[in-house]
Amino acid sequence: MKIYITGLPSGYDVEHLVRLFYPMAPLTLTPPAEDEDCVWASRDDTGLSVLVREKGASRRASAPLPQEDTPEFALASLTYDLLRSWTGLRPPWGKMTGVRPVRLIHDKRAAGWTEAQIDQWFLGRFDCSEEKYRMAKAIADLQEPILRRGSEPKAYSLYIGIPFCPSRCSYCSFVSCNLDRDRKLVQPYVDCLCRELEAIRTEADKAGLHLQSIYIGGGTPTSLSADQLRQLMGTVRDQFPLEGLAEYTVEAGRPDCTDAEKLAVIKEYGATRISINPQTFSDEVLARIGRRHSAQDILDCYAAARAAGHTDINMDLIAGLPGDTVEGFEHSLKTAIALDPENITVHTLTLKRASRIVMEDQEDNTYADVAAMLEKCSLLPAAGYRPYYLYRQKNTLQNLENVGWSKPGSEGYYNIYIMEEVQTILSAGAGGSTKLVDTAGHRMQRIFNFKYPNEYIQRFDEVLERKKGVSAFYDYDLGTETPGGD
Ligand code: SF4
Repeated sequence: MKIYITGLPSGYDVEHLVRLFYPMAPLTLTPPAEDEDCVWASRDDTGLSVLVREKGASRRASAPLPQEDTPEFALASLTYDLLRSWTGLRPPWGKMTGVRPVRLIHDKRAAGWTEAQIDQWFLGRFDCSEEKYRMAKAIADLQEPILRRGSEPKAYSLYIGIPFCPSRCSYCSFVSCNLDRDRKLVQPYVDCLCRELEAIRTEADKAGLHLQSIYIGGGTPTSLSADQLRQLMGTVRDQFPLEGLAEYTVEAGRPDCTDAEKLAVIKEYGATRISINPQTFSDEVLARIGRRHSAQDILDCYAAARAAGHTDINMDLIAGLPGDTVEGFEHSLKTAIALDPENITVHTLTLKRASRIVMEDQEDNTYADVAAMLEKCSLLPAAGYRPYYLYRQKNTLQNLENVGWSKPGSEGYYNIYIMEEVQTILSAGAGGSTKLVDTAGHRMQRIFNFKYPNEYIQRFDEVLERKKGVSAFYDYDLGTETPGGD
């Protein structure tokens, strides 16, 4: 099955929706031959048309040019409707291609729509399943008071990136250096990071910003030695007011580099929340994705975290990992629930081009029924968890979602703030993307750091120079342009 699209500046939405029905269909730039299986979507001055041809049979649909919608959405919608009737399949999120379904609900509420109008619009426009919509709506309800706090004028969160990991997971598309290979970069990186944090504090003060949450993520922050963690978190404690923070999270993601000493440092220096990320409790799947630890190591790490006094723990799981099964995923979920962490985040595997899984061995991987895996999340409400944030990513298996579940009162604020883009996020470290949000003036601007640690270290003066764009953004009178990133 090939995908051929003509007459649109970007056929991305059409292509994306065709792949819900034909996941491996390639895009072609030349018209398919008469006997070739294809989905052929086109727009010209007379209207929109779609042809599906498969195993000698075919069906067409056509529509006039849209008056209100964009041609992109209208042609994507026509294509979806044709393929749904052709295949008999109904994807859970219907024809929605956007990554923030909850935001759509917030936006319509802010625009004064009634709940009935939003229900009708959402379900009708996207052909989304009632179940997915109800979850998105419950999350929107739960987020409202949290977003009110997060969108206070001049509120901000601080993100600190540690782009090092003990080994590379096969599905990873992040910029993350292998500790074995790049250990010599770690100390100079931490030294620069501490200087950048000082610069951020100066800029935040100049702009009159007040800090609401801190998130140290990666990569794997516990790739740092205990002393490097002390240096980094000591700088954070010296530079930023920790009292009154809504949350201070450190990802202690992998047990192969997280020990009792590091867990104690994280606690001692003020973190209120950590994340230990099993992804799966199957040793076979862990080996398959390139993790150098066992499921037992995760259980031991979790016990050590509790012993160190951590009272707010998140655990990430991934549905759809290569080699996993529906029963295997259910076992992982039940194991996580039995540990009773305050948060469980269930991701769906995303196949990103920069990941090894896509570049090297996609052919060898089979992906079990991910929708059936996610159905097992019905175990979570019975164990006292509520969904509190939801987002989707491009190229996710079966176009499914990632959902953060929490015990009441343990919602991860930073996750909500960053997903709903309600406040400024000041980012430190390689790959950092500072997002400046002015809710009153409806302005948004980004400042990018260099992507790779060696470039970040070598061109650190430029990193500091760019950071001056933070106070400039808030200084209307200067009208300063923020220097662009790479
Ligand atoms: S731990 Fe996370 S950042 Fe590190 S390699 Fe694995 S997926 Fe990538």
